[in-house]
Amino acid sequence: MHALAALGANVIGVRRPRELDDVDALVIPGGESTTMDKLVRAFDLQEPLRKRIADAMPVYGSCAGMIMLADRIADARPDQDTLGGLDITVRRNAFGRQVDSFEEDLHIPRIAGQTSAPEGHPQTFKAVFIRAPWVEEMGAGIEVLATVETGPARGRVVAIQQGNLLATSFHPEVTGDHRIHEYFMQMVRTALR
Ligand code: GLN
Repeated sequence: MHALAALGANVIGVRRPRELDDVDALVIPGGESTTMDKLVRAFDLQEPLRKRIADAMPVYGSCAGMIMLADRIADARPDQDTLGGLDITVRRNAFGRQVDSFEEDLHIPRIAGQTSAPEGHPQTFKAVFIRAPWVEEMGAGIEVLATVETGPARGRVVAIQQGNLLATSFHPEVTGDHRIHEYFMQMVRTALR
C-alpha cells in the first residue's frame, strides 16, 4: 500500500465485495496462499474476484499473490483453491528449505528504465524471495519478464505477464525500488483509457 501510495495511487484495502466494487485494479500481496484462499472464500470474495479477473481488471500478484492468480498449483494443500487467471502451474515453496529466503539481482528489461529507479539507475532489480514459488509450466500466452540467473534454480521463471495480469515470485515492496509497482500502475492507466 505504501509503495503504491508513494507513486500517487489512491489505495484502499480490499476485504469485502463492496470494497472490490470501488477499485480499478488490485494487488494481491505476499503472505500465505492457503490462508488467503480461506479468507477469500469466507468473505464471499472468490466469485466477485474471479469475475473481475475475467472482465480484465489489472491485477498484480506477488509471491502468495502469484499463487492465488495461478490456474494450477504444484504442492498445494489438498483443499487449496486459487482465483486463477494465469495459465501457469506454480510450485509453492519451490526453492526448498535450505535456501528458502534469498536475494538476487535480476535483469528485468521491461522495468529497467522506469523513473522511480533508485539512485544510480541500476540495470538490475534487487529481488527478495521469501518462501517463494516459481512458475513451473506455462501456456503460450505468458510473457516471461525475469528468470533466476545464478545458482541451482538458474533459469526458473519468477516474473510474468499475461494481458492485464502481472505476477512475481519475489517481494518488490521491501527494498524501496518501486519500478515493478510503477510498471503495474502504467498497466492500470492503459487499461482505464
Ligand atoms: N509460501 C507462501 C505460500 O505458499 C508464500 C510466501 C510469500 O508470500 N512470501 O503461500
